Amino acid sequence: MFLHGTSRINAEGHLEIGGCDVTELAKEFGTPLYIVDEALVRQRAREFMEAFRKTGLRHQVAYASKAFCTMAMCRLTEEEGLSLDVVSDGELYTALQAGFPAERIHFHGNNKTPDEILMALDANIGCFVVDNFIEMQLLNTLASDKGKRVNVLLRITPGVEAHTHEYISTGQQDSKFGFDLGNGTAFRAVEQALAQSNLKLLGVHSHIGSQIFEVEGFRMAVEKVAAFAIEVRAKLGETFSVINLGGGFGIRYVEGDTPLPVGTYVQAIADAMISTCLEADYPLPEIWIEPGRSMVGDAGTTLYTVGTSKHIPGVRKYIAVNGGMTDNPRPALYGSKYEAVLANRANEAPTEVVSVAGKACESGDMLIWDLNVPEVRSGDLLAVFSTGAYNYAMASNYNRIRRPAVVFVKDGKADLVVARESFDDIIGNDMIPERLRKQAVSK
Ligand SMILES: *Cc1c(COP(=O)(O)O)cnc(C)c1O
Repeated sequence: MFLHGTSRINAEGHLEIGGCDVTELAKEFGTPLYIVDEALVRQRAREFMEAFRKTGLRHQVAYASKAFCTMAMCRLTEEEGLSLDVVSDGELYTALQAGFPAERIHFHGNNKTPDEILMALDANIGCFVVDNFIEMQLLNTLASDKGKRVNVLLRITPGVEAHTHEYISTGQQDSKFGFDLGNGTAFRAVEQALAQSNLKLLGVHSHIGSQIFEVEGFRMAVEKVAAFAIEVRAKLGETFSVINLGGGFGIRYVEGDTPLPVGTYVQAIADAMISTCLEADYPLPEIWIEPGRSMVGDAGTTLYTVGTSKHIPGVRKYIAVNGGMTDNPRPALYGSKYEAVLANRANEAPTEVVSVAGKACESGDMLIWDLNVPEVRSGDLLAVFSTGAYNYAMASNYNRIRRPAVVFVKDGKADLVVARESFDDIIGNDMIPERLRKQAVSK
């Protein structure tokens, strides 16, 4: 059986997460429902922090909030002592409203708008990760206008291609992100940043991809980035105090996925950094990493109710759930694979193979192809695993479907952290111009 964290099958044969029977959660909160195993998120946070403590290196673990950004998640992140990455004004606003300490917020993105930069400057966030020359100039000017000097990292593209899906590779040269290392752009970026009086250059950042199952890519990235740091010191006399290796640590979505314990990635990064720095007599920088998926991915489960089915003899049987690409666009977007169980009959042996369709008006709205299940009946609950990252965060109102609620479960308690959207939420921003209003009959 495919279970994460505190998930188990209880005596009634129901899936239980965080001590909560999911059939009860369905009754209380309705479906579709995102269920987050709070203990597992906290465990991951602690694994990252503990792995760094063992290395003795100064460090920051910044949760890449884009994976799942809600106020409760920001609170949990702060409680666990992590920092927080944001990539938009909306994420920044969420973090600030949740009371997240601004000095532990890092701002990413390849096209930060002037308004976003101003908002972050006013909040006194801890660091801007500068992506390109236009942003660098803009940030310096806006910081200068406010009489501030801000911490920056430069995002560099180290030319390391992690073994992962092409759409989520960002470390190779042909990427929309960052200053290219290989062609000298990154070096020019350092020179320019040092010349800006309102920017304080802490160091560099690299993010080589996502859903990575091996340490080799990180080792290569460390070597390239460290070699760059050494070159910068030799030519410009400047040492970096921070090197950020990004995120991308893999999780298990399906049988056969073989992620490493998160501490293994940390250890590999630390080992590579320490040996490279020792060799070059380079002062050990503070190491930052930015896990997103690995913090929340396998802690999330989406609970659906099965509605209709369609059997095409000799071809396939479709079952349809009351959600789909609107709450999990990843299968449609990336061809992502998921595992699932019938949550109300999780102890029954599989007897048929079905494909799980969403309810949106798109043939591509399929969640899972060829899932082994007991004979599915209308009204059954289907729990899809490992939906904690990039699911709620990517959810949409396509077909004017309301986004599901999110609950945190822990020790038998379930707390709503995002309410289910209402019909009024759906039409909340709609306006009808005067000329289109239903007129009282006029003469
Ligand atoms: C998306 C992203 C992350 C998080 O990636 P995961 O694969 O979710 O760990 C970290 N850093 C940057 C810059 C990112 O863009």
